Amino acid sequence: MHDIRNVLELARKDGVAVGHFNVADLVLLKAVFSSAQELQVPVLVGASEGERAFMGVRQIVALVKSLRDEFDFPIFLNADHTHSLAHAEEVAKAGFDSIVFDLSALPWEENVRQTREAVVALKGINPSILIEGEIGDIGTGSEIHESVPDLSKGLTSPEQAKQFVEETGVDVLAPAVGNMHGMISSMVRGEVKKRLDIERIAAIKRATQVPLTLHGGSGTNDDDFRKAVAAGINIIHINTELRVAWRRSLEASLAKQPGEVVPYKILPPVVEAVKEVVSSRLALFNSAVPVGQSA
Ligand SMILES: [Zn+2]
Repeated sequence: MHDIRNVLELARKDGVAVGHFNVADLVLLKAVFSSAQELQVPVLVGASEGERAFMGVRQIVALVKSLRDEFDFPIFLNADHTHSLAHAEEVAKAGFDSIVFDLSALPWEENVRQTREAVVALKGINPSILIEGEIGDIGTGSEIHESVPDLSKGLTSPEQAKQFVEETGVDVLAPAVGNMHGMISSMVRGEVKKRLDIERIAAIKRATQVPLTLHGGSGTNDDDFRKAVAAGINIIHINTELRVAWRRSLEASLAKQPGEVVPYKILPPVVEAVKEVVSSRLALFNSAVPVGQSA
């Protein structure tokens, strides 16, 4: 039996992070699974409210579970950025392994109160489900933005992180540490990289001692990823990079076969292009940095 808690505990011990990749169709799911299978590393599949609405809540559960069962492989399903208890209860009942319960847009007191209530309600549905809470501002939308939003005021402090974890009982915390959702064009071109506040990550880890998730990982400096993992990040979310590869390779495949209408002839190069991105990220996240070389 594959257990997401064991996977996170092993990642912590080994000083690596589990890759989390969002999917919105079977092409993306095939790419994520086949990459993880090839590298023989556990993987989290994410589906946001929008992605779930498109794929179907129970349908995505059936797809991921079928891969886990048929291949006896540690692939898990996370309900990414879920903004209401009703939606969270829906995915808990449907069989998701974890939920990002995200009320970070609400005032602090409301976020704490409603997240605490959600943790109790959701564990009542499935005691082993993992609940992730979110504080601070990491922007919205895994897409191409015009400019970098000013998120500097929304960074998470270690004191806030400790208080939030203690008062809500969340299993996992998503802090704001210089990360942001989406990319700007210069990041897509590779000219600009996101930079992370490594000291802040280490301080939040010391204060909370819970697994930490880095959201909005697309376009982040590789060395910052390694240092962030060494400082205590256990899960890293990548979405926009996959979406960019998906669209570009789909356009290229269509241009190359202008008369083709058979989906399974048009789509394999798209799977391959997305898989390449996933593989390079999984290889990076799963390469442990020796202790002492982290800073
Ligand atoms: Zn996110």
